[in-house]
Amino acid sequence: MNWKRWGFLIWCAVAMSCGAPLRAQVRQSPPAMGIPESPALVGDTTALALEAQGWLMNLVKINTTNPPGNEQQAANYIASILTKEGITPEVLDLTPGRSAVVARLRSSAVPDPSRALLLVAHMDVVGVERSKWSVDPFGGVIKEGYLYGRGTIDDKGMLAANLAAFIALKRGNVHINRDVIFLATADKEQFGDASLKILIAKYWDKLAAGFAVNEGGIVVMKGGKVQYVGLQVAEKVSVNIAVTAKGKGGHASMPTKDNPVVHLTAAVDKIANYTAPVRLTSIVRRYFEGLSAIEDDETAKWMRVIDTPDRGEHAQRVISDMSPMWNSMMRDTIAPTMLQAGVRPNVIPSEAKAVLNVRLLPEDTVDVLLNNLNKLVNDPAVRLEVMSDSGLAAPNSSMETEFYGLLTKVCAKEFGGAPVLPLLSPGATDSAQLRLHNVQAYGLWPFPLNEEDLSRVHGEDERIPLASFAKGVDLMTRIVTEFSVTH
Ligand SMILES: [Zn+2]
Repeated sequence: MNWKRWGFLIWCAVAMSCGAPLRAQVRQSPPAMGIPESPALVGDTTALALEAQGWLMNLVKINTTNPPGNEQQAANYIASILTKEGITPEVLDLTPGRSAVVARLRSSAVPDPSRALLLVAHMDVVGVERSKWSVDPFGGVIKEGYLYGRGTIDDKGMLAANLAAFIALKRGNVHINRDVIFLATADKEQFGDASLKILIAKYWDKLAAGFAVNEGGIVVMKGGKVQYVGLQVAEKVSVNIAVTAKGKGGHASMPTKDNPVVHLTAAVDKIANYTAPVRLTSIVRRYFEGLSAIEDDETAKWMRVIDTPDRGEHAQRVISDMSPMWNSMMRDTIAPTMLQAGVRPNVIPSEAKAVLNVRLLPEDTVDVLLNNLNKLVNDPAVRLEVMSDSGLAAPNSSMETEFYGLLTKVCAKEFGGAPVLPLLSPGATDSAQLRLHNVQAYGLWPFPLNEEDLSRVHGEDERIPLASFAKGVDLMTRIVTEFSVTH
């Protein structure tokens, strides 16, 4: 996902009146872990979080930059942790050097996949520009209350928190009423030969679940307080369109009107000025409705009338201008991302190409958009074609399931009543694959993060506040335990 967009969103928001301070560090003693029988289902998780912090640090030190990924070493490390706990993991090989890890806590002899809960996180990370980092991105450096390193947030932080929640359940030795499955995936950042799609095709019986929690959501922090929690229930669909202009090549000293570079740039210019119409999905309506309760008066005023016949259109324009993410949540978007033409300064090429990255709202089809763009470009020298690497259109996860209800309840309780809102994410995650297999998948990075830290994801000096990591471990442990013990 392009998490820099999140940063912009938070920058646009204003501190709200009700929110919970970050409390992860205040629980000091006793450092018991696991799940006592009574009175609370989950006890103090301080020691567990510290242990998980060590796992996270070691995972950061295993360089899983994708490409090439090399997730096998991380998979073996995770498998060794699980084995020590008396759990039998399976390392599932995908391509040479690339594996996933799966492990299961059973509720009964005969599994019921429709009830099972799947905890998903990916082991691979995006690359780094080392010269721009102030620390070794694969050193696992702790500095001033932060753990630095590529993947500390995306997604090794979640991987370690999932592992901690899973192990806490095992250590608690309580009767669970649904299977809980831990899954560490590979190749998320490239969606290639070792991705979840391939894993599902080869090993679905080992992963099949009715519910999942994955990356994609967020706990938005501002001024040391949690402002709101966004649970991802749907995502936009990424489609690439190739724009090709053809013409007569020749010597640049005698230019003609059919120079493909000129036709292409004119087409891209027209496309760049096109704005697709707004379509408010039920998720986005609920999101703005919830957000209007905590936004400043001016923003809230527009959010409240966003769907009204008289002021809706103006409100949509105002909201779109406030945040690229809000704009993207309301309409299909088009971003020209690549240009290719020419071999020499003095030669007019016979062909010029551009790529448009389109993000479709769920349920929109690319044909309608393509038709509109063709009319707009209106140039016989220019052809628009959908490329073969399109993302998947998946159904939304339901906002009515017992798991969605539980996530909402636990998050609100843990963050002092902060609103919990459904999210349609502009970026893509593995959850689309899961939703296509009837899994009710919800996105949540459980760590309270502010704009500054979110802007570092996929960028330089990625880091996670240790207190936020501990809070995330605590939250995941409560979610997983409550859902598998009492529901
Ligand atoms: Zn990720």
